Amino acid sequence: MAKQDYYEVLGVARDASEADIKKAYRQKAKELHPDRNPDDRKRAEEDFKRVAEAYEVLSDAQKRAQYDRYGHAGPDQGFTFGDTDFRRAREAYREFGFGGFDNLFDLFFRQGAAQTAADRRRGAAGESIEYRLRITLEDAARGTKMTLTVPRLAACPACAGTGMEPGSKKKACSACKGRGQIEHRQQSFLGSFINISTCPECEGHGEIVEDPCHKCHGQGRVKEKSKISITVPAGVDTGSRLRLRDQGNAGVGGGPNGDLFIVIEIIPHPQFRREGPDIHSRVTASYPQAALGTKLKVETLWGEETVSIPSGTQPGTVFRLRNKGMPSIHGLNGKGDHFVEVTIDVPAKLTAKQRQVVEELAKSFEATK
Ligand SMILES: [Zn+2]
Ligand SMILES: [Zn+2]
Repeated sequence: MAKQDYYEVLGVARDASEADIKKAYRQKAKELHPDRNPDDRKRAEEDFKRVAEAYEVLSDAQKRAQYDRYGHAGPDQGFTFGDTDFRRAREAYREFGFGGFDNLFDLFFRQGAAQTAADRRRGAAGESIEYRLRITLEDAARGTKMTLTVPRLAACPACAGTGMEPGSKKKACSACKGRGQIEHRQQSFLGSFINISTCPECEGHGEIVEDPCHKCHGQGRVKEKSKISITVPAGVDTGSRLRLRDQGNAGVGGGPNGDLFIVIEIIPHPQFRREGPDIHSRVTASYPQAALGTKLKVETLWGEETVSIPSGTQPGTVFRLRNKGMPSIHGLNGKGDHFVEVTIDVPAKLTAKQRQVVEELAKSFEATK
């Protein structure tokens, strides 16, 4: 596909001033912001790359002059889109306050900054993994210790993570001569453009294992169900994340392990409802108990409590039991409270005797009206 003219890409005249070019770039960048193109991010990204490329050239007097003279297929200057160019474009972009475009720049610039074989040989970090753990509210209140069986990638025990059969050697990759990357020269982008890509033969390592490990097929890692002992601190809530360093997937080629994140989910409790540090529950009183006042037994996370309700307690009245809720996860500020709401039990059936008493009660209410 023929490359579009840089002036057309930015929508400016060939004799546009530096300020006009900057203004046009800023306008285009705004229009192509991913937030403004939610349904068509891919296209916006592609367009933005073109705009950034055009701006990169036209905002630099020397490159612009070169472009004006030779167009896209200029003489072979042999320059790559280097780090300096990148930095400049990035800074120009930041100046406009579009920090969100950083990824895009990273995407754009990756070509110029391929990993070297040496980087690769240093090893890659293992991935961090997540494990969802369901626990009861009681365990969350007191904290608990448990042993989990976590599926993860562990260093292969047969080759100690090297990916090589014992006694086997590595040899330099013949496809890239041990460099780990392959260069292609392209006649299009900013004149002659050197495109550097990762060597497909050795995946950028620069070396090939003669005899890959039979157990892990040269990957250096195997699937494993690891037993991991954890301590869940008191006070955790649904969504709490516990981080266990280095307990995620094993690194490759000597790279560090990832982390293991335990994500807590509290199983709904049959009686208690939690609201942050506080617990809510209900207790039932009979009509005479509410009318005359009484002592009621109330279950809390910390055992049974007795609540005195005064005579004339109305349905829906809430009593507070201080410091009987959830502890704070940091061990500060004591515990939350337990709120208990009184509901009045209206009997569905009455004995003949009870009916007689209630009828008399009804008559006496009538009389005092
Ligand atoms: Zn192995
Ligand atoms: Zn190679």
